Amino acid sequence: MPASNQPDVMDKLVSLCKRRGFIFQSSEIYGGTGSVWDYGPLGVELKKNLKDLWWRSMVRMREDVVGLDAAILMHPRTWEASGHVAGFTDPLVDCRVCKGRFRADKLEDARCPQKPSKRPGEAEQCQLTEPRMFNLMFKTFMGPVEESASTVYLRPETAQGIFVNFLNVQQSTRQKVPFGIAQIGKAFRNEITPGNFIFRTREFEQMEMQFFVEPGTDMEWFEFWKAERMAWHRSLGLAPARLNFHQHAGADLAHYARAAFDIEFDFGGTLGFQEIEGIHNRGDFDLGRHQEHSGKKLEYFDQPNNKRYLPYVIETSVGADRTALAALVNAYREELVEGEDEGRTVLGLHPSLAPIKAAVFALTKKDGMPDMAHRIAGDLRGHFPVDYDETGSIGKRYRRQDEVGTPFCVTVDTDSVKDGTVTVRDRDSLKQDRISAEALRGYLQERLQHE
Ligand code: ATP
Repeated sequence: MPASNQPDVMDKLVSLCKRRGFIFQSSEIYGGTGSVWDYGPLGVELKKNLKDLWWRSMVRMREDVVGLDAAILMHPRTWEASGHVAGFTDPLVDCRVCKGRFRADKLEDARCPQKPSKRPGEAEQCQLTEPRMFNLMFKTFMGPVEESASTVYLRPETAQGIFVNFLNVQQSTRQKVPFGIAQIGKAFRNEITPGNFIFRTREFEQMEMQFFVEPGTDMEWFEFWKAERMAWHRSLGLAPARLNFHQHAGADLAHYARAAFDIEFDFGGTLGFQEIEGIHNRGDFDLGRHQEHSGKKLEYFDQPNNKRYLPYVIETSVGADRTALAALVNAYREELVEGEDEGRTVLGLHPSLAPIKAAVFALTKKDGMPDMAHRIAGDLRGHFPVDYDETGSIGKRYRRQDEVGTPFCVTVDTDSVKDGTVTVRDRDSLKQDRISAEALRGYLQERLQHE
């Protein structure tokens, strides 16, 4: 894992996210639930923007990918076939002294709770147990009887809903291989060591796409999707220097995978480069296992060539929460403003991700300014999320918007009421333009690249 030169902004982000309504700890009034988070008014917009951008690039803009929304609860045999019942485990070690629990394969990243400068096992007093395998799937019961026959699992990934629907989708849409099925949805993993805010949680959202191809063409498609997916992360404004590929090789490569790369983002500080997306060539493992366990043929019939085969699968699997965190970390900066004593905190979010696209201010509450500002905000609101603010100094109002990543602030002053012009201030360049209120919507849409 390459070391990070980027500062650690996580604590500052956690506090900003809470203060400004991006992300709250789940059930906080009861002391919080371990590593589960709630998205507040701004967070839900940010994550929705991210999911919409993914859906647009993966489904809407492509003729060869279609969408799906499969249920979270699936037939329990799905998870036997997929290998999750037997193998979706992490090695768990306990410390007999501090009662800490750690993943044996991630001790590198962990800290001894009693001696945070050391890793578990490094300090003299540490007494680690032998690793035990721990299944990460959440179990529950379907129906009123709590017995093993009615055990079901909360899905630990969305992919299996796609595999079991492969033929339903293919036949109903008359898609020809190669084609893909995409879905966004919740997944649940009883992680041993969740943490780092929304980086590793027990309930999270995945955006997954399984692309079905003819065997023999798989590596070509694998390279295609690798490049596409990296380009997508860059299109969100993630700094190219903070993104890289990590290849899985040797023991790192899952037994069923023919090739696998992660896209990593540099989260800064001790976390450094970490996976945000996995791109895998899964061969025919998944369809093969479901065919075997269900007894139903899942082969594709290639009519023009009169042949049947089990397609290979190229998977792209990305976490919505983890990518939202990457976008926040990437965007966070503190800087001095020329001519002002106070510095500012800015979320330099890409405009397409920003929860609020423009804020409208009435300079004072007099002379018809609030009326005009309300009218302008009302007109813009039909097109994108807008905030209205008339309290505090203009400087304070700018700071409030900078901190949540609003790309533009529009001010209505005494001249505006007379001549119908407003000032528009750009979050990043701090440049101010005076333009006619009539032209405002077009001006903003052009710069936000928003329809
Ligand atoms: P890790 O090695 O970090 O546990 P993984 O290799 O198990 O991740 P995948 O199963 O490939 O992850 O899942 C695909 C994506 O889903 C990851 O790249 C990540 O963005 C997201 N993801 C996986 N587990 C979690 C989690 N516990 N919390 C948040 N996002 C997650």
